[in-house]
Amino acid sequence: MDISYIINELGEDREKYFNAVAPPIMQTSNFVVNTVAELRSLFYDEYNGYIYTRGHNPTVDILRKKLAALDGAEDCLVLNSGSSAIYAAVMANVKAGDHIVSVSKPYTWAQKLFNDILPRFGITTTYVDGTETENFSKAIQPNTTIIYLESPNSWYYQLQDLKAVAAIARENNILTICDNSYCTPLYQQPIALGIDIALQSATKYIGGHSDVVAGVLCGTTAMMRKIFEGEFCTAGNGIAPFNAWLLLRGLRTLPIRLEKITRNTQTVLAYLKQHPQIESVIFTMDEAFPQWELAKKQMKGACGLISFFIKTDSVHDIERFSENLQHIHMAVSWGAYESLIIPGCAIVPEKRYDASKKEQRMIRLYVGLEEPAYIIADLEQAFKSISDSD
Ligand SMILES: *Cc1c(COP(=O)(O)O)cnc(C)c1O
Repeated sequence: MDISYIINELGEDREKYFNAVAPPIMQTSNFVVNTVAELRSLFYDEYNGYIYTRGHNPTVDILRKKLAALDGAEDCLVLNSGSSAIYAAVMANVKAGDHIVSVSKPYTWAQKLFNDILPRFGITTTYVDGTETENFSKAIQPNTTIIYLESPNSWYYQLQDLKAVAAIARENNILTICDNSYCTPLYQQPIALGIDIALQSATKYIGGHSDVVAGVLCGTTAMMRKIFEGEFCTAGNGIAPFNAWLLLRGLRTLPIRLEKITRNTQTVLAYLKQHPQIESVIFTMDEAFPQWELAKKQMKGACGLISFFIKTDSVHDIERFSENLQHIHMAVSWGAYESLIIPGCAIVPEKRYDASKKEQRMIRLYVGLEEPAYIIADLEQAFKSISDSD
């Protein structure tokens, strides 16, 4: 399907709402029925109708159609955070005594689920280094029901060979879930590679304006229905109509935003790579990246997230650099218009900072939509603030 058609037209039925170009926000909790038979059929099958906004809502449905099409999936559910999307997809597919194989260091709250919540129900998780596909085969047990992936990882950037891992999972009758927040369906299509459930934090690129927290699940209608009728409606973690409307608005400009961020990132990457105060830079679509070949094979692009190491062992230098940035804000999240930075040293108390641990020395930069010269000038003066103090 044509991407412009998906973004501009698919799912929109303007004659139903006075030919308004922008769809209305159906800010309603419940829907009226005219006959008992209608009510009965909605009670029997809520998935295919409107009865109550904890389930489906027409504004959210426009978004669901577009996101499913972008992912090349049959169906989609939109949730009120990426984290709740992870929660619903995993919980709907495990039972007591099951085993999960997860790529090492998935998103923080996926780790929370695997490490603290699921063990309460006798569900265990084995983490594997996902850069070697055979590690997944080796970790599979008779009770393994899910292989959980995140490619690329949004902190460490390791990739998994999605097609190869999906094939192993299929042979063993294991469900695959892949967190695709880093790429979005524009730059990577997990479902086409054989993954069962493609997951995204829509807070990042889909929303794109730092004003909404949301998550997406895409897969077969049978799988989406299963999640909907279980965890989705029970936890009540579907997205609110207004937030769905914000995502629709964000989606209109997704391709152009990704294009601009990709260009900006290339310029900033080139600047960082030649900088005398930089020790090394990590970016997935770079010839120096250890999995560059795989990145080129399964991803159409990469943008925004770059990590780098400053030539210093001093946590104070990293702190000074981060605090001296004037326009690049220090904040969590990424994927919106504004450039952001997170110094890895913030994960430990200052006294326990250990320069031999790469993740503590690393600085993650998200390159936003500003002009690259503006971003680079800000980085340059922050680098200068370190060397001036030496
Ligand atoms: C942000 C993020 C999430 C969680 O999404 P929220 O919308 O913040 O709940 C999950 N996975 C990755 C890779 C993320 O970056």
